[in-house]
Amino acid sequence: MVAATARIVLKSAREIELMRAAGRVVHRVLEELGRMVRPGVTTAELDARAEEIVRESGGIALFKGVRHPQARFPFPACICASVNEEVVHGIPKDRPLRPGDIISVDCGVRLKGYCGDAARTFPVGAVSPDVQRLLDVTREVLAIAIREIQPGRRWREVARLMQRRAEEDGFGVVREFCGHGIGQQMHELPNVPNYVDRQRNGDFELRPGTTLAVEPMVTAGRADVVLADDSGWTVVTRDRSRAAHFEDTVAVTESGVDVLTDGR
Ligand code: MG
Ligand code: MG
Repeated sequence: MVAATARIVLKSAREIELMRAAGRVVHRVLEELGRMVRPGVTTAELDARAEEIVRESGGIALFKGVRHPQARFPFPACICASVNEEVVHGIPKDRPLRPGDIISVDCGVRLKGYCGDAARTFPVGAVSPDVQRLLDVTREVLAIAIREIQPGRRWREVARLMQRRAEEDGFGVVREFCGHGIGQQMHELPNVPNYVDRQRNGDFELRPGTTLAVEPMVTAGRADVVLADDSGWTVVTRDRSRAAHFEDTVAVTESGVDVLTDGR
């Protein structure tokens, strides 16, 4: 992966501050939507509020209008809203959330030319202990990544610890989707997998100025995913077990890591 490493664009301190400003907007969206999540609210209502917040901030919603080779139409919303067995890329709709559901909200914003991208999975009302454990472990997997990122370290070492934590509880780690470099573009090099493989795909050196969207996607059952419907967007677990998704945009610093989507 030497070639890929060479193409990772390192960011200056000024660029990282611009990414933090974008990240603040993303954080505000996720905080406000988290407070709105309750039985009866629709994901379309969450999306409408997200759109207002992004517009008021002067930012641009990054997901709206995105094209994907397998999708039948450009992504139509500001947020991805993925409920229960939906892993990522759920399209907001008028279906009300029900008690015991979980909803993953993913939001990306560009502000003054720089991007922030983050996601959280929220419980809707009271959820079963097993579902709560899925949320807690997935949040912990992201926290492990943030704790373990150090300049000079290989991503592979961090990914191994993330994978181990999820699998320790019998959960699956999605392979088809992963995190990514981020900066002026939402998706930059490198790919940032949440697992390790023998081919050492997705390994790279963490260097000061490397900016990443780290985003574990963890399943309660098997890790395999499929497209849910003919939109070509919504990704669900093949066994229809539930999935959780937590994401933050981070910068590698001289001494460790700086989280750019934590609202500071
Ligand atoms: Mg995201
Ligand atoms: Mg992302």
